[in-house]
Amino acid sequence: MLAGCRKDQKEKMMKKKAPVVKNQEFEATVIDLTYDGNGVVKFDDFPIFVTNAVPGEKIIVGVTKVTTNYGFGRVVKRLVESADRNADIDAKVLQSGVAPLAHLTYEAQLKHKQKQVADVFNKQHVAVNVAPTVGMDDPWGYRNKAQIPVREINGELTTGFYRRGSHRLQPMEDFYIQDPEIDKAIVVIRDILRKYHVAAYDEQNHKGVVRTIMVRRGHYSHEMMIVLVTRAKRLPTSEFIINDIREALPEVVSIIQNVNQEKTNVIMGDQNKVLWGEKAIKDTLLGKTFAIGPNSFYQVNPAMTEVLYQTAADKADLKPTDVVIDAYSGIGTISLTIADRVESVLGVEIVPEAVDDAKRNADLNGIKNAKFALGKAEEKMSQWAAEGLKPDVIFLDPPRKGLTQELVDAAVEMGPQKVVYISCNPATLARDAALFVEQGYEVTGDVQPIDQFPQTTHVESVTVLERKA
Ligand code: SAH
Repeated sequence: MLAGCRKDQKEKMMKKKAPVVKNQEFEATVIDLTYDGNGVVKFDDFPIFVTNAVPGEKIIVGVTKVTTNYGFGRVVKRLVESADRNADIDAKVLQSGVAPLAHLTYEAQLKHKQKQVADVFNKQHVAVNVAPTVGMDDPWGYRNKAQIPVREINGELTTGFYRRGSHRLQPMEDFYIQDPEIDKAIVVIRDILRKYHVAAYDEQNHKGVVRTIMVRRGHYSHEMMIVLVTRAKRLPTSEFIINDIREALPEVVSIIQNVNQEKTNVIMGDQNKVLWGEKAIKDTLLGKTFAIGPNSFYQVNPAMTEVLYQTAADKADLKPTDVVIDAYSGIGTISLTIADRVESVLGVEIVPEAVDDAKRNADLNGIKNAKFALGKAEEKMSQWAAEGLKPDVIFLDPPRKGLTQELVDAAVEMGPQKVVYISCNPATLARDAALFVEQGYEVTGDVQPIDQFPQTTHVESVTVLERKA
């Protein structure tokens, strides 16, 4: 009796058992798409995330993994195909993880991104209208930067991309979303490294020489930077490698060795050696020139960055008397493209090289009313608030993790009429917007998603928060 009771209790305390098992197959209709591009089906109420499945499609699901609260699956057979499916896509692209939304038509991708922004604001109970996503006419070959892992496969130095959700390199020459000139350069450099028998990095044993090839190409300038990220301090036969690269790739103006001796997934190390040429490349955005060093953040889709900055500046409704803060200023791109329209801009950025680049970029463009501070945006802004600084507009362009409470408090204390929030992560955007709303701000106008990253799951958007009268 007693034992039975205990058993009941124990069963109650045990977590509910999943209603499916691995390798089980069943028919289902895809009802939703997750932020990371997986289709959602349900077995009873139990959600299963299925790769390469589009909402509306009827499929036979094969369960590949089960956890307590959800499972993963694959499409065993597609019974009914959605009109939102991009039927032309090469299976290799989908496997690679380069373009996790490429199984959707571009139209459907843009709608998916709009919906995602609307959903996260709903979750935070912040009422907004989200405008349709502004997309690209040609949503391929847009990336101005590539970081390509180098590994040995079948005894040969190979470049490619990690398979979706893994660290297994899949050899690749066409990366679809990168500037095709960058794709060509990577093959050329791979062949040069092969010619001189340079050892590829061996992740498991932390041996070998070249870990990553980074290439950046100015969209307008066509200046190219090559960075060879090495585990070893020494790059054998470097003079030959440099000569061959210069001969084969006339656009190259800078060849850099970056040393990363750590056992880490972080791509770049701290030490840069200029092997040949300049220490930065130049490119233009909205008519201003920017020098971009190897470690500095620079937007990866220049054509859409111009749309993004233009949208942000228009929504800010800038006036010649405005004092502006540009928080998370990187190499100063936002500050310097709006400087002509305002009284003054004050940027703040945490990466020292980026701040140096920003100052150099101000000089390069003869801009005198933009200043850049080095430090944590939250700390600098608290300090400025305490000093009584009263900006009219604050631009915020944080990394994916968004803002801190300290930053929001400092911004509110300074009391700007407008906060223009440029976000690369809707979840943290909506969370942070709610913090501003709590403190007397409201979202005005539409939230505007702008597709900086076609074929991928990244969502960029501009939101304006205004101080209530
Ligand atoms: N506005 C720039 C950069 C945006 S990316 C542009 O459009 O190009 C975000 C930037 O925030 C990066 O340059 C990163 O180095 C910087 N950053 C990250 N955390 C920070 C912090 N706590 N304080 C200031 N800057 C930070």
